[in-house]
Amino acid sequence: MKSLFPFFLLVFIFSEASMAQQAGAVLTTTPTYKEVIDQYEQLDKSSDIAELKTMGPTNSGFPLHVFIISGKKCFTKADADKNQLPVILINNGIHPGEPDGIDASLQLAKDILAAPQNYTEILQKVVICIIPVYNIDGALNRGCCSRANQNGPEEYGFRGNAKNLDLNRDFMKLDSKNAESFVSIFQEWKPHLFIDTHVSDGADYQYTMTYVVSQKNKMNAKLANYQDNVLLPFIQEKMTNKKMEMTPYVETMGETPETGITAFLETARFSTGYAALFDCMGIITETHMLKPYNDRVVATYWLLFSTLGKMAKDAKQIFDLKNEAIKETASMKNLSSGWKLDTTKYSEINFKGYEAGHKPSEVSGLQRLYYDKTKPYTKTIKNYTEYKSTIEIALPSFYIIPQAWERTIDNLKLNGVPVSYLKRDTTIEVESTYIEKYETVKSPYESHYLHFDTKIRHEKQTIKFSKGDVIVKMNTPMNRFVAEALEPQAQDSYFNWNYFDGTLQQKEWFSDYVFEDIAAGLLKEHPELRTQLEEAKKQDATLNENANAQLIWVYRHSRYYEKTHNRLPVFRGIQ
Ligand SMILES: [Zn+2]
Repeated sequence: MKSLFPFFLLVFIFSEASMAQQAGAVLTTTPTYKEVIDQYEQLDKSSDIAELKTMGPTNSGFPLHVFIISGKKCFTKADADKNQLPVILINNGIHPGEPDGIDASLQLAKDILAAPQNYTEILQKVVICIIPVYNIDGALNRGCCSRANQNGPEEYGFRGNAKNLDLNRDFMKLDSKNAESFVSIFQEWKPHLFIDTHVSDGADYQYTMTYVVSQKNKMNAKLANYQDNVLLPFIQEKMTNKKMEMTPYVETMGETPETGITAFLETARFSTGYAALFDCMGIITETHMLKPYNDRVVATYWLLFSTLGKMAKDAKQIFDLKNEAIKETASMKNLSSGWKLDTTKYSEINFKGYEAGHKPSEVSGLQRLYYDKTKPYTKTIKNYTEYKSTIEIALPSFYIIPQAWERTIDNLKLNGVPVSYLKRDTTIEVESTYIEKYETVKSPYESHYLHFDTKIRHEKQTIKFSKGDVIVKMNTPMNRFVAEALEPQAQDSYFNWNYFDGTLQQKEWFSDYVFEDIAAGLLKEHPELRTQLEEAKKQDATLNENANAQLIWVYRHSRYYEKTHNRLPVFRGIQ
């Protein structure tokens, strides 16, 4: 890494284009985890405006670190708030095979601390928090080849963590120690802007840097407006000036970019999706896998640097905007969910791609796609960035969770959600949520049989709760997160991530030859039930032809059937 420093100075002076001609100066390696932490420790020792803090554990056995840089020595959130300073949190190495941000962040920290007098505005007006390597487990699992298509570095880490989890799907379900520790860091610092650094896969094109900004429709509107219309254009302009023009992340509508590209919907399982739940703007850097490692690190470096510059310029505005957004979140009445891309709305952007074509494959003999780098083009393509919600969920005045569901309660608390405990056994009229329908993935996804397309119904019930059961307060800045976690229809809800699967299995049954007589008695006693059954039989031929199914139908409409089957153990307060 030491040799990097003069290399970067050269970059600054001679620009990226001339860098490519500096024989031997081109970056082709990335440091090991230990080398990264050693260098941050050195920086910590040599500077009084930076601190390396040891945080919670990861599944690797090593703790997470946060490196904080602050010209005003605001090394706690309380100090940052006292000085009204916005906080940026930069996360690196969530996918350690994509280490561009690990190198870029370290180099940026070195440059700032080597010559703080050149970075006065940034140092005085922004608190910079860097997670040097997030997926330490994956970074330790180093090799040459797991990213088959990537153009360097020579060695890098592996995507899965020690439990083979993709940490960029773990922010809601919290299966990894890494994610638990991240949540603690995030909730301690409550950043104004979050950046997660990556390398893309997918189509070929001319750009080195592509980006995802947190999807605007699911965010606070004021923050989304600043993020998309003020911050992003500034970064784009700076990058263009550095001859590192960027384009939105290339998620194509069809096979190639000419078919149009779509904004990525990063739901709460993703890093910036999680951040947005707490009114934090988000940027994902996605350098292009086919570009040389050197160029990718330089582009990431400049994106981070440009972002810091704008944050410093707009520090007060960003600080105030978040406070306004938090207030709005605390008073939100509905959670919008069921996001679908609105294909009727798009903007047109200039896109610098390569002509694509098809030719016979030497492997299969069938047609294959290829991009022709000798035929670069600039074309106008459609950019679809609007999502519309298909479900509106009214927020309750509070939730009650029986204490048995400790994982749910613990994770809410870890996220800083305010809770209180019932002081005595109490009977309360609440709105219960029944799971009516759901789909489940056919093979394990991120260690879960994830549910989706969940449908519910509500029912008013009077429930006896016990001393120690938990009341989750609403009308707080946590509203969006709490509703995303506890409302089953939300895409990354705790229900969908299997937190409540125990409720989906019926525990008590009946013996048919005994229940026949009870069922007959019930139908005689309640002619309205008989009418309902006859109606159900008319609508459902299978029911009509199946004696046992009809017995089950009567059972499920009787007092013998357990009320807890398919009932979410999260009750909605009515007030
Ligand atoms: Zn990635």
